[in-house]
Amino acid sequence: MSTPLVKPIKCRRCKGTGEFGPSYVDFGICKRCSGSGVEEGDKATLQAAKKFVEDYRAAYQLVQAASWDALMGFRKLEVDDPARFRKALASVLAGHPKVMEALAAYAHAE
Ligand SMILES: [Zn+2]
Repeated sequence: MSTPLVKPIKCRRCKGTGEFGPSYVDFGICKRCSGSGVEEGDKATLQAAKKFVEDYRAAYQLVQAASWDALMGFRKLEVDDPARFRKALASVLAGHPKVMEALAAYAHAE
């Protein structure tokens, strides 16, 4: 893993959470840091943060169009397991045929 050249500075608006305000406004993504939770950092950090927000919005719309259950699973996984959520996000964008079913099932998982 490469060491960032510039120490990332936590976003002052969302206090590093990347979330600000209600979810129905821009999906609750903090505008100051574009949901990265980081205000300043090296180029790679900021680019990765920007890409995540773009991916998140694109995936959110696809999941929302698929079904209400899938959307609930998407939001649940985001909170429960961020690492797995990132994989699911990639699967949604890659058009993996089973991912919407899996998300819908996850919405009802214990
Ligand atoms: Zn922020």
